[in-house]
Amino acid sequence: MNAALRDVADGLAQLCWPARCAACAVFVAEESVFCAACHAGVYALGEDEDGGGAGFCTRCALPRDAAGGGRGVHGPQCGVCARTDPAFARTHAAVLYGEAVATAIVRMKHGGHRHLSRRLARLLWPALRRAMQTRGGSDAPSAVLPVPLHPRKLRRRGFNQALDLALWACRIARAGTANAHLAPALPPVERSTLLRIRNTAELGHAGPAERRHLVAGAFAIAPRARAAVVGRRFLLVDDVMTTGATVGECARVLRSGGAAQVDVVVLARAP
Ligand SMILES: [Zn+2]
Ligand SMILES: [Zn+2]
Repeated sequence: MNAALRDVADGLAQLCWPARCAACAVFVAEESVFCAACHAGVYALGEDEDGGGAGFCTRCALPRDAAGGGRGVHGPQCGVCARTDPAFARTHAAVLYGEAVATAIVRMKHGGHRHLSRRLARLLWPALRRAMQTRGGSDAPSAVLPVPLHPRKLRRRGFNQALDLALWACRIARAGTANAHLAPALPPVERSTLLRIRNTAELGHAGPAERRHLVAGAFAIAPRARAAVVGRRFLLVDDVMTTGATVGECARVLRSGGAAQVDVVVLARAP
């Protein structure tokens, strides 16, 4: 289905099927993502905590009170970031990966509810907006890169949830601005700059070191994009960040290809 047809289909679906809670599927107002009961368990990671590292690792957005195992946040960075020095500079996470958010993401990815990406993108947009702000002398981001799926997985699933979320978040941004010329310049969403060249097993319950090992060498810059990567700042978008192994490997590949800076934007951060 091409993009225009998909827009028409989405519009029709909205008319015919009223909005339901993204997690438990009860009817909700069109502007709501979750019902009141599910929403009560959704923790937004806001502007304040994100700025100074008061409640979160500034690098990977790990909550300060995350449980043990050397994962706690004692300075501006957590113990893992201090030890592993990830290739990304900052992480902007929209919400904590709690039960309602996890259910919604599983329904979107594996439950035949791709349309939920449009609703969940409403949660993602504030995090993307924070990432677009320039601070500490960094340049404005020049592109949004969804974490790519391997072509085989893409064929099986039919869509890349990270791409869907990124595209919808940018559409929300444009729709929310009455005067387009006053809108902050939205970086383009580039879907073929970064490639997944190796299909990795589901990371599931793998620990941090195993995850890093599993995703090593899984990504590459598309040959025709190599020159265009040099000197640019990228925003990597994904649905869930668990240990940061996947986005860390993407960022490593981009930085070794000459990217000036890579920041991460995720819908949900697992504590
Ligand atoms: Zn609900
Ligand atoms: Zn960290």
